[in-house]
Amino acid sequence: MNIEAILEQNSFTQQDIAALISVTDPRLCEKIRARAESILLERCGDIVWRRGLIEFSNVCARNCYYCGIRRAHKTVRRYTMTCEEIVEQATWCASQGYGSLVLQSGERQDSSFIDLVERCVRTIKERTRSALLPRGLGITLCIGEQSRQTYQRLFDAGAHRYLLRIESSSPHLFAAWHPSEQKLESRIACLKTLKAIGYQVGTGVMIGVPGQTVADLAADILFFRDMDIDMIGMGPYIVHPRTPFAHHAGQMAQNRQAVFERSLTMIAVTRIVLRDVNIAATTALQTMDPTGREQGLRHGANVVMPQLTPADHRADYLLYEGKPCLDETAQQCKGCLEARIAAAGRRTGCDDWGDANHFFARQSLKQ
Ligand code: SAH
Repeated sequence: MNIEAILEQNSFTQQDIAALISVTDPRLCEKIRARAESILLERCGDIVWRRGLIEFSNVCARNCYYCGIRRAHKTVRRYTMTCEEIVEQATWCASQGYGSLVLQSGERQDSSFIDLVERCVRTIKERTRSALLPRGLGITLCIGEQSRQTYQRLFDAGAHRYLLRIESSSPHLFAAWHPSEQKLESRIACLKTLKAIGYQVGTGVMIGVPGQTVADLAADILFFRDMDIDMIGMGPYIVHPRTPFAHHAGQMAQNRQAVFERSLTMIAVTRIVLRDVNIAATTALQTMDPTGREQGLRHGANVVMPQLTPADHRADYLLYEGKPCLDETAQQCKGCLEARIAAAGRRTGCDDWGDANHFFARQSLKQ
């Protein structure tokens, strides 16, 4: 297929998308990157939004085969930050002009956990209102599958965005990556519920898990489009040695560069197909290459998530091996990311939630 001709199109078939994702010729990869960057600048502007990331608990009731904090991993030191600790990080985040934060954790449905999250959201909203941020910090939750009532409660408390990765939209891959009690249909139902409640909704996939094909990844991008998703967070799969997927280590080590490059191409192609969504340059990209996040930005990403998890907990939130910046303070992380944003030729957003243009477009269609 003629890649340059596909890049001129405004709508794409699964075959078109698969053809773009398969490109490895550096000259054509650059064409795809440049097209993604120009769509980004035209549809979203040059600002990169920051979301301070607080990984506030690694306690998890799930057993995802790829994840380092899965329930069955017994040597993990489990922690849950207190509401005061979380609020302290959040107020620092607001004082630095970040505008938004992400509260991420393992998945739990018990009431003491949900009470904690609700209390944190309410307190953060109260304590971070200021002349610069009259609505307080924007809060994104990433705490897995929950009931409709819980999602509604947390929305009412003031959270307005939610990230729930589909991991893979392929029923066969989803089933291979998760124990049978975790169902693809239930994740899809959660995404629909979140949207119906009024959240801005993010999803995403892991890239490069052995067995995943280009056709699967093309179907993932169509899934994002058909679900009318506002935000995308996706990144390379990285092996954790103490998981059932540890046997992939040899193959993943051999494919490392290819998986990294494919992750960048996925960001670019997602930007080309979805246009006005927010796309994160994730930490996992940086794990694979020291310039991973800048490269993500240059391929069409417009969100970064500086670490705010206190250093004494960071080493216990290891979803995969080799996670970067384990000993950096939140202050160091801030300086480092600002430099990376500038190196990518972009401006840093300040004191604004930085919501996706796609969300406003879909709201105005509803009215
Ligand atoms: N419990 C929350 C947060 C999960 S951690 C939830 O279920 O939404 C956030 C993301 O990390 C996951 O969605 C998954 O895509 C990613 N992740 C987990 N293990 C990983 C690994 N080994 N390599 C790369 N990404 C991984």
